[in-house]
Amino acid sequence: MTMIAENLHRVQARIAQACTQAGRDAATVSLLAVSKTFGVEWVEAAFAAGQTAFGENYIQEAVEKIQLLRHLPLQWHCIGPVQSNKTRLVAEHFDWVHTVDRLKIAQRLHEQRPAHRMPLNICIQVNVDGGTTKSGVSPPDVLALAREVVQLPRLRLRGLMCIPEPAPDFVAACAVFQSARAVFDAVNAAGIALDTLSMGMSADLEAAVASGSTLVRVGSAIFGERAPKV
Ligand SMILES: *Cc1c(COP(=O)(O)O)cnc(C)c1O
Repeated sequence: MTMIAENLHRVQARIAQACTQAGRDAATVSLLAVSKTFGVEWVEAAFAAGQTAFGENYIQEAVEKIQLLRHLPLQWHCIGPVQSNKTRLVAEHFDWVHTVDRLKIAQRLHEQRPAHRMPLNICIQVNVDGGTTKSGVSPPDVLALAREVVQLPRLRLRGLMCIPEPAPDFVAACAVFQSARAVFDAVNAAGIALDTLSMGMSADLEAAVASGSTLVRVGSAIFGERAPKV
C-alpha cells in the first residue's frame, strides 16, 4: 500500500506543475481522493500518507466506510447522484455534497441535517456540456438555484461542480472547464460568494487547474483502476 503514498505524491506533483504553468499558487487547489469501490484499508493507507478528504459516489457503501473510520479525522464528500430517498443518509453522514441539482434536494438536505453538525457544504452541479439527459443545472439556471440555497441555514453554499464528457485534447477540455468557470464568476459577481470550483479528474486535472479549478477529484490515479461496478 505504499504504492498509494507514491501515487498521491505523483498526483500532488501534477497539481503543483499545473499551478506553476497557470501562474497559480499550489495552495489554491485541493485534492479530493475518490475512494469509491475501494475498501477502508485503502482509505487508511491514503490517510497514513497525509490525505484527509475523500469522495464517494455510492451512498450506502460510503456510509459503511464513514462509520468504520469514524475514529479518523476525515472529511467526506458526496460526489454521486443524490435521490430524494437518500438525502437523510447524506445529510447525517457527509461533510460536503457536490451534486445538488434541484431545490427539492437542497431543501431535504437542509431539513435533515442534524442540529449538532456543522452546516453541510454544498456545490451545485452544472451541466456544462449540454446533454439534456445529463444531471446538473443548465448554466442559465444556476444563479436562481444559488439564491435559493443560500436561504437554507443548515446548508453552506460553497461553489459549483461539473463532470464534463472526456474531451479529445487539452484545448477542448479547457474550453469546457472555462464555461464552468464563467458561471462561477457570474455567481460571484452577482454577490453570492463562492470559494470552490470542483472540476478535474485523473485524466484531465491539468486542464481543470489551468481553467480555475480549486478542487480536483482524483480516483484511479491514486488507487488504481476500479473493477466495473455490477
Ligand atoms: C469516479 C469519479 C471521479 C474520479 O475519477 P477518476 O477518473 O478515477 O479520477 C471524480 N468525480 C466523480 C464525480 C466521479 O464519479
